[in-house]
Amino acid sequence: MTLIDEIRAIPFEDHHVHAPEKGHELDIPHFRRPFTESALPEVWAGPYGSQLAYRWMIRELAKLLDVEPDEATVLATRNAYNETAYHRMLAESINLGDSYADYLFALDASFSPLEWSELLGRRVHKLLRVEVFVEQQWESCPTLDDALQQLTDEITNAPPAELVGLKSIAGYRVGLDIEAPSASQRRKAALSYARFRQDKADGRPARIDDKVLVDTIVWTAFEAAAPKALPVQFHVALGDDDIVLTKNDPSLMRALLKHEPFRSVPIVLLHCYPYHRTAGYLATLYPNVYVDLGLTIPNIGHGSARVLAETLELTPVEQLLASTDGHMIPEFQWFGVHVWHWALDKVLTELIDDGVIDASEALGIASAAMRDNTRRIYPVSANG
Ligand SMILES: [Zn+2]
Repeated sequence: MTLIDEIRAIPFEDHHVHAPEKGHELDIPHFRRPFTESALPEVWAGPYGSQLAYRWMIRELAKLLDVEPDEATVLATRNAYNETAYHRMLAESINLGDSYADYLFALDASFSPLEWSELLGRRVHKLLRVEVFVEQQWESCPTLDDALQQLTDEITNAPPAELVGLKSIAGYRVGLDIEAPSASQRRKAALSYARFRQDKADGRPARIDDKVLVDTIVWTAFEAAAPKALPVQFHVALGDDDIVLTKNDPSLMRALLKHEPFRSVPIVLLHCYPYHRTAGYLATLYPNVYVDLGLTIPNIGHGSARVLAETLELTPVEQLLASTDGHMIPEFQWFGVHVWHWALDKVLTELIDDGVIDASEALGIASAAMRDNTRRIYPVSANG
């Protein structure tokens, strides 16, 4: 067996992914949509379909579907498939293991974890998006203290099978320089929550995006996660344009990283590009920091081998995690795994050729990134 065949034989545990949206038949703008997080409709309809990664996905799908590699043909062929058969075929062709879904993202539009699990024929584990969970409690929780207690109870009381980790989108909303809230900041956070709640009650569009409030929620989530050693994922670096990219630099997370009582919590830095080297550096300082390249890998396509090689310059092998950040369309997860396989093979083959590692170490590195590290840090049983 060649190295890439051996890599493909390892089930890919996708530790950061979202269920695709419902509705099997897609048009071209929808098919292209996961390749940008722009909020501008003119971008969705525009030229980003010429990105090389998207073209590569079309080419690979054409091979799988045994049709000509053009966008319209591939789209028509996949639309004509039976939905369940199509999801299964994609999952089988990449040897997909379990999926770990951040399921409070695009909640109404997407399959539930259970529905998606049935489509895939595989387990789907759940991670709680903490800021959105608190937003959802506004009717039953009159005060911030009530909402934080609700969050703590949800994390503390959830059986392992029901909750395998937490997710924070602080990076999107306020930035990653999260601090322990002081007494006066907690008072400000309580007022901010009251304003948010009033907006909801009055029917105005509202979300939690005030720094003191987000910091308080994240800190509370860590206090609840620490006794269970429950992993907390952070959106890091590339994504949408909600805030400036430089506030998504993981080196801003000093307060969380240096806080000794939180050292039991695996802190998972998602996506990371273009801060993947910074993330690797942090992983050398803190044993509970894990570096992921989800979303990055499918988006940068042919650049993924270079970025993976750069990530491995400092990141300890035990602290590298592979995910896709699949969302919207099932093909994005499929393509993400495909590119991971390609990049791992390319990088590891070069390292073998250069005499840095041997073939068995190469397989160990692929296995650690794609499966073993994920199974070690998330509270998921190996079978059943
Ligand atoms: Zn993500």
